[in-house]
Amino acid sequence: MNELISEITALQKISQELNPSFKEREKLNQQVREFANNFIENLDSYPAYVSGNPDFNKLTIHSIKKNLSEILATYNSEVVSKGIKPASGKHLGYVPGGGIYTAALADFLASVTNEYAGIYYASPGAVAIENETLNWMKSIFGFPKSAVGNLTSGGSIANLIALTAARDKHKIKNEKIQKSVLYLSPQAHHCIHKALRIIGLEDLKISKLDLDEFSKIDTGKLKEKIKQDINKGFNPFMVIATAGTTDTGAIDPLAAIGEIAKENNLWYHIDAAYGGFFVLAESKKQLFKGIELADSLVVDPHKGLFLPYGIGAVLIKDKEAVFHSHHYTADYMQDAISADVQINPSDVSPELTKHFRGLRMWLPLQIHGLEPFKASFEEKLLLTAYFRNKLVELGFKVGPKPDLTISYFWYPSEKIDENTFNKKLVEFIHENGDVFFSTTKINQKFVIRMAILSIRTKKDTIDTAIAMLQKCLIQTKKALY
Ligand SMILES: *Cc1c(COP(=O)(O)O)cnc(C)c1O
Repeated sequence: MNELISEITALQKISQELNPSFKEREKLNQQVREFANNFIENLDSYPAYVSGNPDFNKLTIHSIKKNLSEILATYNSEVVSKGIKPASGKHLGYVPGGGIYTAALADFLASVTNEYAGIYYASPGAVAIENETLNWMKSIFGFPKSAVGNLTSGGSIANLIALTAARDKHKIKNEKIQKSVLYLSPQAHHCIHKALRIIGLEDLKISKLDLDEFSKIDTGKLKEKIKQDINKGFNPFMVIATAGTTDTGAIDPLAAIGEIAKENNLWYHIDAAYGGFFVLAESKKQLFKGIELADSLVVDPHKGLFLPYGIGAVLIKDKEAVFHSHHYTADYMQDAISADVQINPSDVSPELTKHFRGLRMWLPLQIHGLEPFKASFEEKLLLTAYFRNKLVELGFKVGPKPDLTISYFWYPSEKIDENTFNKKLVEFIHENGDVFFSTTKINQKFVIRMAILSIRTKKDTIDTAIAMLQKCLIQTKKALY
């Protein structure tokens, strides 16, 4: 017995390292706080993009301890200083959000208190907060209170949950799969196709819809296709619209598609991962008319609410359809059943134990209120218009006026092939790194894509971008002409 006790005591001394004392915590907090403050204060002076690989050796896990200052130095040189900087306002590629600081504080709190947000019984308060964020989203998108929802890791998993519910509602399985038709835009996000493979629906008939000149679904053609498919003995069961496409930010005609879906008993899914929260911008509200008709809706707070990466959301009207795949009871869960006052996040998601991600959305909304979010949306919309004007002044061609804040441009080189010219131009842009842009293809044409959504993107940022583009244009002409 004594031997046992002395062994435990010896081990405790070592394992105590994992539970730092007040003094040790103060020291660690201070170092991380200093790092975070330096990072944010100096963000504007860093380039938005630096190419190159980390020194993998420096990241290797050895089983010996290191001090935090050494580790932070490595984090700075090998992580923060390489690649695209999503926290920077000069990140105008993909869909940047920036990352609201108060959400980081929420993550800290959620981790320190380590609330169990998967089940109401375990943390009624945490689940109530998660459900409150969902209720708030139901209200801004005109969804009924009876709808269910889930905070996911991102838009991809949110879409996966929605598509699974559609599959289960329409009982798309076995021999029915190959006869069933899903209608979507060629501009739909690729995570939809990934989700279909994951949930066993890759053999569906996928009907890619025709688009109008603004890259939006042509509803006349959609109607025709459904009719033809029915006549041929197929089973149309779902249509997917996008509110803010990845390439051009286009919002499909949501109300018209909703009516067609209703007439034909189709599950109506809207992927508004990028664009959804612009519904809060007075000037854009009307574009979202019809979003309330969706059976399922996806938005990405880590894009449209400027939160750090790691939070998407799905809302679904038909609870039973979602519960079919996700609701489960097991013997070791019996304590949880009696206390079901609210929906458990674990009944609406493949996840059981999960990060308490509701807090990173709830806390910023509580601290800041809604006004600064609304102002940010209007600001980003105006910055987009400002940037496009400046681009035209510089001699660039720009894509059609966007619904939101994603657009594209290219330089109309007369002397050589335009695609060759613009590819070279982007090489110089990425080499420069001051402001980051991504690229895409629109009707086979190579174009430079701009997405303005970071909280830190300001008028100065756009002026910096224009100065950089001017410089890169000269370099490109020198290289190619
Ligand atoms: C970003 C995006 C997704 C994927 O979301 P993740 O959060 O990256 O998983 C899906 N659809 C659209 C329209 C998007 O913009």
